[in-house]
Amino acid sequence: MLSSSIPICGLFRGWLVKNPKGNDFTATYVAWLSYAVHFVPQVVTIFEVFADELDKDSFLNPNFLKLTLSITPMIFVCLVYSHHKSRESFARKTYVQILVSSVTLDLFDSVEMLEYLFDKKFISSSVEIAIILFSSINFCLPVLALYELKHNEFRETGQVPAVSFKLLYVLSFLCFVNVPFLAIRAYLWHAFKLDVSILIAKNILGIYFGFAEIYEYYSETMPTRCDSCNETFAKSHIKNHIKACISTTDQVETEGSDEIHEGQQKTYL
Ligand SMILES: [Zn+2]
Repeated sequence: MLSSSIPICGLFRGWLVKNPKGNDFTATYVAWLSYAVHFVPQVVTIFEVFADELDKDSFLNPNFLKLTLSITPMIFVCLVYSHHKSRESFARKTYVQILVSSVTLDLFDSVEMLEYLFDKKFISSSVEIAIILFSSINFCLPVLALYELKHNEFRETGQVPAVSFKLLYVLSFLCFVNVPFLAIRAYLWHAFKLDVSILIAKNILGIYFGFAEIYEYYSETMPTRCDSCNETFAKSHIKNHIKACISTTDQVETEGSDEIHEGQQKTYL
């Protein structure tokens, strides 16, 4: 829907590989992985070697670098929405919308965190390494969320894959982004009296929503296997499925016995 209203998304759509089975998200995690493999080493090199030496009066100043890094969340939005058109699943649309908002905000969070490295005189080397490490991990984590889009078909019946990459993605963002960023910001605030971004509030909310997602997973969406058909369904859908699955099995068995009965009659005739 939105992809059709953003011209550049149509352009991206043409560039990326389309799966003949109709799953438009097949190429997205590969595309982001390729992007991250090239992008992260460049970020590490820039902030380890010369980011603090950039001249504020020159054209290529720290603000220009921040603006360049901010292109990354925009690329993510274009990548996702350019593949979000053919599927009509409500669950998939909801997941895509939440994914775009949260991942975009997390990517901007990393860019904002890297800003501390423009002036390293107030930052210890261990904090510098922690900022670069967790920011780099954050740039790679959308691969998990995009793989969930490829892996999960978001069927209305509640059928889900046995392994939830969405849970892995939520746990990873909790452990490698929001908790470390909150700790680093709190440390810089109290130890060095540095200005702290309002995104510290986002980290607190991110931790709360992360735990809420984990609770929801274990109470509603955890994959549960049906013994009759051996498929996995969300916990909230498994009871309805088992009823439908048993009645379908009984129907098939009744039809089978009728056919046998008719066969026997024909034999006798
Ligand atoms: Zn079943």
